[in-house]
Amino acid sequence: MKPIEESWDSCVKCGICRSVCPVFKEKKEEPFVARGHITLIQELIKGSIDFSSKKAKNYLGECLLCTTCVESCPNDAHTDLAVVAARITVNKIHGVPLYKKIMAKTMSSRKLLDLSVRLGNIFSPVVFKTVKDVPREGVNVKIKNPIVEKDRLLLPISKKTFLNSYPEIIKGTSGKRVAIFIGCAVNYAYTEVGDALIDILKRLGIEIVIPKAQVCCGGPIYYSGMVDKAEKLAKKNIKLFETVEADAILIPEPTCASVIKIEYPRIFKYFSNDKYLKKAEILAERVHDPVAYLYNDTNLIDILKNTKLKREHTVTYHDSCHLNRGLGIKTEPRKLISAIGNVKFREMKDADRCCGNGGTFSVDFRETSLKIGKRKAENIINSKADTVVTGCSGCMMQIAEVLNIEHSQISAKHTIEIIDQALKGGDL
Ligand code: SF4
Ligand code: SF4
Repeated sequence: MKPIEESWDSCVKCGICRSVCPVFKEKKEEPFVARGHITLIQELIKGSIDFSSKKAKNYLGECLLCTTCVESCPNDAHTDLAVVAARITVNKIHGVPLYKKIMAKTMSSRKLLDLSVRLGNIFSPVVFKTVKDVPREGVNVKIKNPIVEKDRLLLPISKKTFLNSYPEIIKGTSGKRVAIFIGCAVNYAYTEVGDALIDILKRLGIEIVIPKAQVCCGGPIYYSGMVDKAEKLAKKNIKLFETVEADAILIPEPTCASVIKIEYPRIFKYFSNDKYLKKAEILAERVHDPVAYLYNDTNLIDILKNTKLKREHTVTYHDSCHLNRGLGIKTEPRKLISAIGNVKFREMKDADRCCGNGGTFSVDFRETSLKIGKRKAENIINSKADTVVTGCSGCMMQIAEVLNIEHSQISAKHTIEIIDQALKGGDL
């Protein structure tokens, strides 16, 4: 496969990736770093290692796809892409775990996703326990099961989805018009983040389009190596948004934004024969992180300079991998947060180091995920902030969990939430 060959050719085995890889930092074994992944894939293809070996499968699985190695690689080796490509072959040989099959089936259909959340709500008192006194409210599963530990803090399930809460068009007065792709985490769990985004856009007089037929971006399916299934979702979203007129498509979930902006074109360039590449590239150009859009295309920063939160807060910021390395958004959230009155911004150590979530990585490799998360929690605590802000729901959930394990009450908020509260004169 082309992505594998390209990474294979560009890796000169310098080992720089060993100093930055969060997984290698915990495992300290060569097969868990970019150079090791590339060598392993080379050997697998040559046939000197068997693809059906369970060890090889785990080595290729235990990668966060955080792209820290890609960022630091002097030769531009795209290990993330090579690992996804190798996972396709691993899946063909080992099969896909049952829970991932169910995940893929459910995420492929809006109806099934909505139904699962409705059932989750109906059976919530039996299945879930709400956990309130933590850095961010979530749920624990009450019933012992083979996939998620009972003590794991999960995203809460919202009573009403974001997509069912708003009309398809919310009129504006400013002449600007944006569309929203909401992503599953905000649609079904952290709906308050979506509500805050609507609130901000309305205050700025921006017209909002919320296409109701949007489907999951397919990220967790794609990253798990089920690229053919992700491709079907990509086509649905591409076709839908082709018909939507808007200055920008805002996605408050950087994983979904990265999938649409970076992985959709890769799907049609490397993994599919379908002639969708041009369409995928056009869609990719239109996708923006809402915080970056608000910073670059509106006068929000000037407005924020005249706002203040009810109480003083010391705030630190965690860079999500997909927002920072994926979309290249690093300074915009910091500038907006720092502009808010009553906010003292304090940078934490290694703010751009992965929190260890990595989507299904945190399910499949919980021990490593928590070890990486512990380092993040320590850096947050050492910053002496009372609030940690980030632009990603997955990071927010992981950070809430690892802070809770460290007995910290530092609260975890989304960048959009703190901006919204500042505009309202509210609090965190
Ligand atoms: S930094 Fe890049 S070139 Fe160097 S070993 Fe790692 S992947 Fe290979
Ligand atoms: S993507 Fe992240 S976890 Fe995977 S090899 Fe690169 S740095 Fe390590």
